[in-house]
Order: sequence, then structure tokens, then C-alpha cells
Amino acid sequence: MTFSIHGLPVARGIAIGRAVLVGSSRVEVAHYFITPDQVEAEINRVRVGRNAVVDELQRLQHDMPKDAPHELAALLDVHLMLLEDETLTIGIKHWITDRLYNAEWALTTQLEIISRQFDEMEDEYLRERKADLEQVVERILRYMKGVVSPVAPPAPARRKSGEGLFPDENLPVPLVLIAHDLSPADMLQFKQSVFAGFVTDVGGKTSHTAIVARSMDIPAVVGARTASQLVRQDDWVIIDGDAGVVIVDPSTIILAEYGFKQRQGTLERERLVRLRHTPAITLDGQKVELLANIEMPEDAGGAVEAGALGVGLFRSEFLFMGRQGRLPDEEEQYQAYRRAVEGMQGMPVTIRTVDIGADKPLDKGQKEDTHLNPALGLRAIRWSLADPAMFLTQLRAILRAAVHGQVNLLIPMLAHGSEIRQTLSLLDFARAELDNRGTAYGPLKLGAMIEIPAAALSLSLFLKYFDFLSVGTNDLIQYTLAIDRADESVAHLYDPLHPAVLRLLADTIQACHAQGKGVSVCGEMAGDVAMTRLLLGLGLRSFSMHPAQILAVKQEVLRADTSRLAPWAQGVLQSEDPSEAINLPLSARSEGVGWDSGMGPLSTY
Ligand code: PEP
Ligand code: MG
Repeated sequence: MTFSIHGLPVARGIAIGRAVLVGSSRVEVAHYFITPDQVEAEINRVRVGRNAVVDELQRLQHDMPKDAPHELAALLDVHLMLLEDETLTIGIKHWITDRLYNAEWALTTQLEIISRQFDEMEDEYLRERKADLEQVVERILRYMKGVVSPVAPPAPARRKSGEGLFPDENLPVPLVLIAHDLSPADMLQFKQSVFAGFVTDVGGKTSHTAIVARSMDIPAVVGARTASQLVRQDDWVIIDGDAGVVIVDPSTIILAEYGFKQRQGTLERERLVRLRHTPAITLDGQKVELLANIEMPEDAGGAVEAGALGVGLFRSEFLFMGRQGRLPDEEEQYQAYRRAVEGMQGMPVTIRTVDIGADKPLDKGQKEDTHLNPALGLRAIRWSLADPAMFLTQLRAILRAAVHGQVNLLIPMLAHGSEIRQTLSLLDFARAELDNRGTAYGPLKLGAMIEIPAAALSLSLFLKYFDFLSVGTNDLIQYTLAIDRADESVAHLYDPLHPAVLRLLADTIQACHAQGKGVSVCGEMAGDVAMTRLLLGLGLRSFSMHPAQILAVKQEVLRADTSRLAPWAQGVLQSEDPSEAINLPLSARSEGVGWDSGMGPLSTY
């Protein structure tokens, strides 16, 4: 039966594929396809792991002291019974043989299916056996880690005949990932994965999970609430990343319609690629700088390919996440920053110092106290200043990377003069340490992120110390409107066009211009084509966004006339309801400006 689920659109496009349900505790398991000749070996890996667990449990049973609690023996019996259960073994074999999943993936897929059956049981005792099953599977996975996989490079899966939904027998089976929640670190892991789209139950449009999905340029919907409960393993699913809709078990007619939309999207992208080498200059001759936001050094290649003129935001915290507390040392960081700098082939790279905290924990499961609000807590520069040794390590690594190209240093979440002064003196200290060691380092331009209203209201203080400012609209909106950006239940109030947000943004651009300092926007607003003309009208000439958004924004720039947009933007700024004003056919919309694509309603916010 076809049904649809509504969520928040975060990464555009249409994905059609079979659902892979992943429990949040199990996303670290590798997901890749094997080839048919590897099936036996993969099944054997599971068998070896399972047998090892059976041996272990039987040994425990055998060695159990006479006076051991009776419950313990019963528990071991249950675990052994679960290991013998055919639903588990037959299911695993199915995923490996028919779908060519690697062994770990097959095991966790089957676990999800059986877990659900347990959830639906009336009997409380039986329902609670789900935890036992999870423990058993965890044990098998642990043993399998020790059994080297004979599986060589992941190969794409082939569609099995009789699927009936795709005309081309040779097309890979597309898969979409459905999860309750994914941390930004999990998303990073999926960057190289097989999935054609994502859906999560939780998350806001500018949560970091959504941001990484956008950087992967695959359709994604977050905040879909109950999706992970309503969708079953292996269901056919359509993800409409433009509308924020997930269609489950679609009819052939719906599939055909979305297949058409998908092809149109592909054609549109192919058309945009022609703009890659076109300079971003408005109709009235204003040069606009389009920069890339990246998470890992390897993203630099995609940035160059998309025609970025540099990196406007390297979110360095992604180097620090998911490492079980072992932070990268100076050498590792230096090599990573150097790779990004060299990858940009002489173009500038803006490295933001670590912004850990709020919805970007260092490690998964590392929950902050629930009575605290992590978004207002020890995150970003506050975290760095609380651990000067860690911060100095990062500053030294960045200074050293600056030998290899133009590097800008960007500091997140500053609000206080004392934080600025402390940061700058630590930077001096880092230079002195490198001098003492006789290690080479390069010059840095210094920038501050404007993402707390207090900062946007103290611009003269910031301009006194910094060479440039970069507006982090994701947080600026969050803190101005008191809306948690990761909370889907208040996502409707997260409004980039709120007059207060626009005022802070306009004043920051203005103040930088007045002092001849650089100013950029690196929040998600910069990559939203529905916002491009407004930002240009407010005087912005430097935008930093995911590489995948650059060409669409460039198209808007090429169609814009800033001499008309400036007065129009002032009107929007002064309007009581900018979200309405932005859609009005104002004078700027008159002849020759090329307002053919809609403004506003298709915003990705
Ligand atoms: C922002 O807040 O707009 C920003 C770019 O930083 P992040 O999204 O990483 O918090
Ligand atoms: Mg921010």
C-alpha cells in the first residue's frame, strides 16, 4: 500500500530505491556490495563468528559455578537458542546471496527485521528478548572483526531479474538509508557509501547531519518523525528532497512520475555544468566570489571541480569526530590542512578552528547532561579556550599548513572581547613555539565568525582585531530566534527572513564595507538560490557553500543586476514581513533582469 511521510527537505533531488533501515547504534558497520563469487566466503565469515560465540557461551555454561544465580544459566540458554534460530541464519544468507550485502551489513539488516518483530510482541517477556538478540549479534560482530574479509574492493550490486521497477537489467540496485538519527560523524562515514538518499526521523534543516547530507549532494529528508518505524526493510521508497516527502511502496504511476522528475533534475545539472568556467559577474559588472564549504581535505577536489574560487569554510571539527577521544595530533592535522591547501591549487583556504559541541559531539553516544542546553554550552571557541594545549596544537598545525598556500584562520562562536584577546595571544604563543622549535610557518589572514547576535551588535570590536568576518547564518538564526536548529519540532520557526536576522546580516555587511574589510556568508543561506538576490542586494559579494550548490547560485548571480537589487533589498529589509516582500514583483523585477526562476517558495529552508 502506497503512503507518504512528510519531513524537512534538506538536500535536493529525487532518489528511488530500496530501504535499508539502520539502527543508530549500528551505523559504524561497513556497508558495501560483494560480487557473486564472494558469497560463500562472506557466509563463512558469519558462520565462523557465530560458531565462536556458540563455543564461548557453551564454555561459560560448562564452567558456571554451582552456586551461580539460576537466571544466569537461563540467560545463556536464551542466547544459545537465538543463535540456533533459523530466522537469523536464513535471513543473513538471503541478504548475502540475493542482495550481495557484505556479511556485517547482512547481519545487522536481519537484526533490524527481527528486532521489529520483537517490538510488536504482546508478551512483555518476549519483547524484552530483543536486548538479548542485540547482545548476541554484537558478539558475532566482534568475532567477525578478527576474521579477515576476503572481500576485495566493493563492487556495485546488480539488479536481480524480476524486480520489475527498473527497465535496465544492468542498473545497480539503488538503496536509500532510513534511520532514526544519524550523527554528523556517521554521515561522514556514509559519504563514500552506496546509498542514493537518506531519511532520518529527527533533525532540523541546518542540523549538521543535514549539512553533511547536502555536501554529499544526494536527496535527503530529515525530521520525518516516524519514518524509521513506518518503513520496512527493503520497501521501495521515493525520497523527494525538494519537497521533503518520502513515498513508501509507490505505485507504477507514481514511480513513472518521479522517474521523470529525476531525469529532469539530471538534465538541469548537466546544463549547469556549462557554467563551470564562467566568471560569476552580475549583469551590471559586479564580481562575486563563490567559495566552497568542506568537511574533509579530500573535498577540495570537488570544490575545484565545481569552479569554487577557494574554500570559505573548512569545518575542521570533522577531523576530530568519532575517534573515541583520541584527538588528532599536530602532525596529523598539519598533513590534513596541507592536503586541503594543496588540493585547492593555489586558491585560498579558510580553516575554521574546531567547532565541537551542540549537535556535533566528539563521539557518538557522548551525551551532554540533559538538563543543560548544549547549543549554549561549551562549544566551538569556548571549548578550544578551555583546553589551551589542544587549541595550541591546532593553531600550530594551521600555521604550518600556511607555508603551502594562502590560508585564512577563522574563529567560530566569538562573543566577548576577552575571548578575542585570549585567542590572539594563544596564536602569538603558537608562533613563538614554532619559532623556538625552528619550524617553518606561513602568514595567516584572521577572520571571525559572526554567529551570535552579541557579535553582530559589537562589530567595531570585531573589526578592530580581524581582517575579515564570515557570517554563520545557521547559528545566527538559531541564537537570534532562540530556535534549536537541530529540533524538527520548532523547524517552522527557523526563519532566515526574520527582520531581526536580516538586520544583523545587513549591518555586518555594511560595517565591513565601511572599513574596507572582507565579509562573507558561509551559513546555508549562502547556498540557497532563493536567497542569492537578496544577499546581493544587501551588498554581499562573497558566498561560501557546498560545492554542489555553486553552479546554481552562479546562475542566479549571472542573471542579477545589483543596481536594481540594492533598493529592492532595502525595501525587503524594512518590510514587516520580508518573506512576503521578497516575492513581490518589485521594480527590480522589471525588464531585462531575467527573473524567470521563482523566488522564495523553493527556498531550501
Ligand atoms: C553557521 O553557523 O552558519 C556555520 C557556518 O557554522 P556551522 O553550521 O558549522 O555551525
Ligand atoms: Mg556555526
